[in-house]
Amino acid sequence: DNISAGDFEKLSVLGHGNGGTVYKVRHKLTSIIYALKINHYDSDPTTRRRALTEVNILRRATDCTNVVKYHGSFEKPTGDVCILMEYMDSGSLETALKTTGTFSESKLSTVARDILNGLTYLHARNIAHRDIKPSNILVNIKNEVKIADFGVSKFMGRTLEACNSYVGTCAYMSPERFDPEVYGGNYNGFSADIWSLGLTLFELYVGYFPFLQSGQRPDWASLMCAICFSDPPSLPETASSEFRNFVECCLKKESGERWSAAQLLTHPFLCKDMES
Ligand code: ATP
Ligand code: MG
Repeated sequence: DNISAGDFEKLSVLGHGNGGTVYKVRHKLTSIIYALKINHYDSDPTTRRRALTEVNILRRATDCTNVVKYHGSFEKPTGDVCILMEYMDSGSLETALKTTGTFSESKLSTVARDILNGLTYLHARNIAHRDIKPSNILVNIKNEVKIADFGVSKFMGRTLEACNSYVGTCAYMSPERFDPEVYGGNYNGFSADIWSLGLTLFELYVGYFPFLQSGQRPDWASLMCAICFSDPPSLPETASSEFRNFVECCLKKESGERWSAAQLLTHPFLCKDMES
């Protein structure tokens, strides 16, 4: 992949994040449209380390249909690390929620299956995503759903090192990330992704973040208290029993009790539309 910034024409901004900006770009030679994530050089080495982690993980996951496809990377003379990816033309689940409203159960069932396919692939390779949330799940015109944004992901070792590190988006962090002694009985790092998946599906169904009342402004301290000390949120009565149970299996406070990604792929909520 011998590419450089000059090979691309910037068309528009797709999103801003912590360390950088994602552009829609056109490859001048082939006219192919890509997404280019530019992680701006920062004297703080964290930004660069995150960008390199993302490259490292994306390049190992190019054969998974539910991980955004990596097409190469390069570093600008300024030190910016640039990551070239497939362009997901329907945007993120966060924008879908804002523009077209809440998701039906049958839509969420296929979304859940796609995300779990991706997580099963990643977890089997010892990769924990650690930042599953609506804005990090992308969709394209073919209705393919893919996991993106591996900036805080991690290759998990055999230790508890990653358990209590404050990475990811705090609102979607699981109880054991705050209080590993109480909730981290069987901690492996992968179950935190399952918790975040449960909250994500919940939010897409009801239209607001589960631990907050509709419209309430997030206050970090009370949110953390709610995650650790209140019962996990449960779906409203309008949801089917399969869907409610599926979310319960994701939102067990004790990390060891949560279902794994591979187990959840066999849950009746995902098999429902095939039977009927
Ligand atoms: P944050 O810190 O907010 O999590 P980030 O800097 O890590 O963001 P990403 O999450 O990778 O960056 O991308 C930010 C936004 O850009 C996404 O939410 C999405 O809307 C858009 N985006 C990212 N990658 C693509 C892509 N391949 N195709 C289309 N849009 C994309
Ligand atoms: Mg993001």
